[in-house]
Amino acid sequence: MQTISQVLRNLNILELNPAYSTGAVWGSSSGSNAIDSYSPVDGEKIASVQVVSAADYEKVITKAADAFLFWRSMPAPKRGEIVRQFGDALRKYKTDLGTLVSYEMGKSLQEGLGEVQEMIDICDFAVGLSRQLYGLTMHSERPGHRMYEQWHPLGVVGIISAFNFPVAVWSWNTALAWVCGNVCVWKPSEKTPVTAIACQHIIADVFKANGIPEGVSNLIIGDKITGELMTGDSRVALISATGSTRMGKEVGVAVAARLGKSLLELGGNNAIIISEHADLDMSLIGAVFGAVGTAGQRCTSTRRLIIHENVYDVFTAKLVKAYAQLHIGNPLDEHNHVGPLIDRAAVAGYLDAIEKCKAEGGRFIVEGAVLEGPGYTSGCYVKPCIAEVENDYKIVQHETFAPILYLIKYKTLAEAIALQNNVPQGLSSAIMTLNLREAEQFLSAAGSDCGIANVNIGTSGAEIGGAFGGEKETGGGRESGSDAWKAYMRRQTNTINYSNTLPLAQGIKFDL
Ligand code: NAD
Repeated sequence: MQTISQVLRNLNILELNPAYSTGAVWGSSSGSNAIDSYSPVDGEKIASVQVVSAADYEKVITKAADAFLFWRSMPAPKRGEIVRQFGDALRKYKTDLGTLVSYEMGKSLQEGLGEVQEMIDICDFAVGLSRQLYGLTMHSERPGHRMYEQWHPLGVVGIISAFNFPVAVWSWNTALAWVCGNVCVWKPSEKTPVTAIACQHIIADVFKANGIPEGVSNLIIGDKITGELMTGDSRVALISATGSTRMGKEVGVAVAARLGKSLLELGGNNAIIISEHADLDMSLIGAVFGAVGTAGQRCTSTRRLIIHENVYDVFTAKLVKAYAQLHIGNPLDEHNHVGPLIDRAAVAGYLDAIEKCKAEGGRFIVEGAVLEGPGYTSGCYVKPCIAEVENDYKIVQHETFAPILYLIKYKTLAEAIALQNNVPQGLSSAIMTLNLREAEQFLSAAGSDCGIANVNIGTSGAEIGGAFGGEKETGGGRESGSDAWKAYMRRQTNTINYSNTLPLAQGIKFDL
């Protein structure tokens, strides 16, 4: 296993030098205008990174706007070729970048590598897409006329991302935005700035090797104040923001106030319905991975299990047994199933949620705790826990970003679907059943109200080929596959008159 300084060296970021394509400096000294990034794995400081100043931000946006003039006129398949090379560079750096993701964010090494794989996959998808940015042709009602639509890039796309997917979410946005002809400015989470700098270095080298002017990919480091520079800036045509519902409500309002476009990917409160017709062993894997994977810090983490009364006792016994076998510890050690939470504030949020749950009447069948002692010195390791609750408890309605699993019993499928839908969020959902009628009912218009609805798969772990996102307080945005690319472009309807008269639509006469 490599040391982290070796990983940083391999990624060319040991010195945190200014990257090629931005006006901002990363710096390396602690101070009021710097962010110190600590690993939740062992509590060690990884680096100090300088926060972008308002003056630096201006430089970045000006450079980005200039770069757009060049980038938009490059044929889309040529832009796709650059993204193809980016995918190749990610293949080269997969182990190093995946290790850094795991160390800075705290997810397992397998998941860190998986995140980089997701970046590679979206690059492949975007390369194909660069030859498929199709518009429709329509039949005109007027003789000698042709009507069609085409898609043009928007300009500067601002990407605000969350800590839990420190690199993949950026690539979902940026790979598509680039082939569509946009330039991007990325404000990563202030909790994971070092992985973002590593990504910027990787793409900067690709652009440089191809003689692309600076400013197509830009990185600004900072917290919400830096994010607000972009959300209030009408030069940023689209803000794609991933994070909490609280953040989304602020960003949505700020962008709407200037009539800009926003794409919001916010919190979830995801449930699996375990039917009496489920394969219980398969359901167990889906439920446990969904609840404890990434220490419950995925937007698609399983927060609630809605279990049929006929299988409730047998399934909960299996769950309790499985939880007793979980290994909690350093996520870079592949024997561990559960790593740390991102920081001590997240640990406080976990403890607070447990207290609130108990106060509302929740009964814990697997108790939670903060782990102490050797291997847990960062203070960020907690025990995944399970509570029997009612769906309408305030704490159950709220997304707690930690491995707390709530159990709810049901009698009829209609009741289970109502329980599943009866939360403010609408991201991911699943039913475990071998009964076709139940499965189809769950997927029907009267079924799940979420953006993602699965059968015999858990709530977490989406593929890049589908459109990803959710409804209600999850924000309504869609990213990644299917036709999500349309969010990064503007649609233009074109009508061409090749006749020698000027007929008006709807038969209106206007003779001079
Ligand atoms: P967060 O809301 O605290 O921060 C997310 C990002 O928004 C950060 O970069 C932060 O600096 C920025 N930000 C916060 N307030 C802002 C403001 N007013 N203006 C501009 N920028 C602002 O979220 P987090 O703790 O980093 O991530 C966890 C949350 O993200 C969870 O709720 C999770 O469900 C959600 N999430 C959703 C998806 C999805 O696709 N739906 C994916 C990943 C994470």
